Amino acid sequence: MMNPRQKLAAGRLWAARKAPYFSSGLLSMRLYEVPLGTLPSPVICPSCRKEQYKSIKGCFSCGASLKKAKHVGTMGATDRGVFYYEKEAVENWNVDELGSVLIHELMHFLRKHGARCERKGYHPEIWNIAADFEINDDLDFLKLPNPLHPKKYNLPEGLLAEDYYDRIRKKVKITYICCGSVAGHTMDGEPFDTGIEHSSASVELTIKQVAKDIRDEAAKGRGTIPAGLQRWAELELKPPKILWSQKLSTVVRSSITTIAGATDYTYSRINRRQGGLGFGVGKPILRAPIAHVPKVDLGLDTSGSMGKEETIRAISEADAVLKATKAKARFIACDAAIHAMTEVSDIRELVALIKGGGGTSFIPVFEAWEKMRPKPDLAIFYTDGCGDAPSRPPSFRTIFVLVGKYKQKPWSAAEPNGITWGEMIFVEEDED
Ligand SMILES: [Zn+2]
Ligand SMILES: [Zn+2]
Repeated sequence: MMNPRQKLAAGRLWAARKAPYFSSGLLSMRLYEVPLGTLPSPVICPSCRKEQYKSIKGCFSCGASLKKAKHVGTMGATDRGVFYYEKEAVENWNVDELGSVLIHELMHFLRKHGARCERKGYHPEIWNIAADFEINDDLDFLKLPNPLHPKKYNLPEGLLAEDYYDRIRKKVKITYICCGSVAGHTMDGEPFDTGIEHSSASVELTIKQVAKDIRDEAAKGRGTIPAGLQRWAELELKPPKILWSQKLSTVVRSSITTIAGATDYTYSRINRRQGGLGFGVGKPILRAPIAHVPKVDLGLDTSGSMGKEETIRAISEADAVLKATKAKARFIACDAAIHAMTEVSDIRELVALIKGGGGTSFIPVFEAWEKMRPKPDLAIFYTDGCGDAPSRPPSFRTIFVLVGKYKQKPWSAAEPNGITWGEMIFVEEDED
């Protein structure tokens, strides 16, 4: 006879054989026994033998009193990776059923059903059902008694719990389903502070590890991993990042807005309110504000070492934003090596002038730029950054877009570790 712990270990082994990519996740689950009656476990009606939750009304089927009916035990898991159980439940279940429950609870854990429920403030019992739908359609190979499967409720497979929740929210008849806080539905009597909980960092590590194992297994191409699980793993492994292109358009857009918002005052037009004051000696002259159309230069350091395709992409990103605003844009070739500034008509012509080289000084470039007429309000300077810049910022706003293998912040005599004026956007190569 196996004791409950050994039986659960056997269940875990069964599960790891069925789904080897879950092994590290299964091993990370901590087992914790609680005494019978701690959890709201079901009872068997002494008269008709139907399993149900104790109710003062007696058996839902035959009406017999359930006062003396004994709990049969239950189990669940916490969102900190503790699998808790009443030993009677383990005794009543087969090894393969236990293995199936372990995988089922692990799936709630991997998909962060607890946090997702909390974030949305959902009804925990309805959410638990929706969460079960989300995972059970990927787990057809399990030996769960009566799993909640979307097909049985005429719902499409492959949806997220949030979608199932919206669909069942109004019509679901709440049957008591409780997988524990791991599924967003904390069980009454669920143990906490047992001392064996995973830290939140360790939860994240475990999830990433399982996602990696799934991806590696899928790469072998044997086709044994459910598609929904593969999709999950891919999403889980995607680095959370703000794309440089998003950052660039945000910075350009906000610079344009700020510049356009700063109104110019001019004496060349008379303010409409002047009429009220009257004209003549001794009367103050009001200046008329005019809407400012930002002048923007897209400057390219043609002596820098950057790839042409990469540079075209990076310039196009900013150009698209400028076209969407009312900014006036010029394309300026900045040859830092010979200190020449030339206006050209489009991106390709500009990029064709790249000669490469790098390791120059940008000081003459910025000096020449200051003298250009009209002077820009904003310069977006594409460069690898390998050069020294003026110690003091120019009179126009500057965004450095740093491109190429050697990209870095330009330095200055005052700031040898990299200048702190101007916005810096590093163009990272796409990972997919
Ligand atoms: Zn009964
Ligand atoms: Zn569940």
